[in-house]
Parts: sequence; structure tokens; C-alpha cells
Amino acid sequence: MKRRNFLKKATVSSLSIVTVSSLLNCDNNINLSDKTIPIIKTKIKPIVIATWNVPNATEIAWKTIQKGGSSLDAAEQGCRVEEADINNQSVGKGGRPDRDGNVTLDACIMNKEGDYGAVTCVEDITHVISVARKVMDNTPHVILTGYGAKQFAISEGFKAENLLTDKSKKDWQEWQKTSKYKPIINIENHDTIGMLAIDEKGDIAGGCTTSGLSYKMAGRVGDSAIIGSGLFIDNEIGGATATGMGEEVLKTVGSFLIVELMRQGKSPQQACEEAVKRVVQKSGTRYKDFQVGFIALNKSGETGSYCIHEGFSYQVYKENENKNYKSEYFNKS
Ligand code: ASP
Repeated sequence: MKRRNFLKKATVSSLSIVTVSSLLNCDNNINLSDKTIPIIKTKIKPIVIATWNVPNATEIAWKTIQKGGSSLDAAEQGCRVEEADINNQSVGKGGRPDRDGNVTLDACIMNKEGDYGAVTCVEDITHVISVARKVMDNTPHVILTGYGAKQFAISEGFKAENLLTDKSKKDWQEWQKTSKYKPIINIENHDTIGMLAIDEKGDIAGGCTTSGLSYKMAGRVGDSAIIGSGLFIDNEIGGATATGMGEEVLKTVGSFLIVELMRQGKSPQQACEEAVKRVVQKSGTRYKDFQVGFIALNKSGETGSYCIHEGFSYQVYKENENKNYKSEYFNKS
């Protein structure tokens, strides 16, 4: 029977016993072995990569792995370095505020099992990456926001403190003089830290932390804490993370897209390039006014990165040709 005729004839009570699969043409017998997963034969060396020029963060992440920590521990510890650095005005304490002068932070973390924790719009707590981990580890939820997230953090022992530094306050006051109080797209005002790591066991995890776009509207949440957009990890394939105009990354679910492209056989570099192409295509001519950059890592330890405009950079901490580990900085233009 054609679906339309069937629906016409069906009574409400008979509809209720129709299985979802017959209406939606679902497959109840999904073959889970039918997946394209690269087989990695060689032992993978640990590696840490991060958006922007953050050698201190990648070094701490690297040392965490050296001390026996997991890739998840590494991503958390690395992100914490930038959250504590008041000179980084895009992350954690010292982050630039929203247009009302309040610093609100977003962060997320994802482990090798595909578990995920995130917080959005959190005030007065510096280490939101660790709060995100607590959400993942200690609650039945995946995202907590605003007041609830802050209260949860305090109940977990986090200290509430003022995140607005004199420098960020002064910048905000300057912005107010000319901005007419409008949130302005500015390709320089972002520096989210997205970090991906592979540990000694070859497992991938990642974290992402930000104060979001400078002078955003109160309550605005970007991509950085949203699974699949600012960060995505699939321990069978690899991981990806984003920085830049969160609204545009959200519309393309950029990090998930990159991981899926890698699943289909693209290298991290090719996958990042394709994701940036999608962002540009979807945005019409708007891409001229915003920046978006992605970095990616696959299970073989290969890395990739791509961005829309000049001025994006990323940091890699890995073994070099002399078997020494070191941090390398790549300026993308
Ligand atoms: N992606 C961040 C956001 O939209 C901004 C940034 O990268 O700094 O909130």
C-alpha cells in the first residue's frame, strides 16, 4: 500500500501500533561490521596538536603523556595552561568579555570512548575544561550551561573568581566608544584553544576552550563547546577541532565533517580543506569577513590544518627526525 493511502485509511489507534521503521523506511538489521575503518599496523607515537601558537600548552600536554597520562589528561592539562594565562585574551581568565562586560566561557572535552562533556556561558570559573570533564565523568548529562554550570563547578570544588582583567576591561571600554554596542565580526578577535592528542596506547582524545567571540551578545554560545562543531573525536578514525567564527562552524558541523571525511579515506589535510570549502560555499560572500580554521589528527598520527584567511597557526608536539620530541609552530597563510 502506498504510504499516503495507508495514512489516509489508518485510524489514530492503528497508527500507534505501526512501527517507526515501516513509516520511516528504517533498517532494523544494520550491519555493524560494514564500516570503513583504516587498519593501523604500526605502533603510533604520541603526539599533541593545538590551534594557535601555544608551545607551553602543548608541552604540558606532552609531559602529561610522558608521565603516563592518557590523551584525555593531556588535552585537559594543555587547555588549562591557556585558561590560566591572563595574556591570552580569548580563553579562560583574562578572556575578553561580552558586550555587557561579562566574561563567559565555553569548553568541551571528548574521550576515546566517544563520551563527551561540555559547559557553556560559564562566569567566574577559570578552568572550564576541567568542569567539562567533571560533567562527563560525574553527571548523567553532557552539557551544563550558565548558572547551573557554575553551581555545579562550585559543588565540585572549583573556585569562583573575577575573570575580567584590567587589560580586558580597558579593551572593552575602548570598544564601547566606537562600537555603538553592536557585536562586530572581527577576524582577529579569536584564539580558541582546540587540542588533540594521541597517547602511548594510541588512543585519541581532545578538548576545546574559549571565551568566545569578543563583545558577543550576552548568552551567545559558539561552536567551541558543541559536539561535532568545535570538537569531535572518533577513536577509530581521528579527531578534529576548530577556531574562528563559531556560527559558521556550527552550520557545517565542521569537526564531525572532517572526521567523517577521514573515515572515507581523506587525509587530515584533505579533510580540513574540504571542510573549509564547505564553510566558504555556504557563506556566500560573507567568508570575506570572518576567519575559520580547523586542525585534524588521524589514527596514524598524520596531521592537517586549513583556514580561510591568513593569520591562522597551529602547534605540533611530536618526535622529530632525531628522535627528540619538540614543539613546532606552523604559521598558515
Ligand atoms: N570559535 C569561537 C567561538 O565562536 C571563537 C574563537 O575561535 O575564538 O566562540
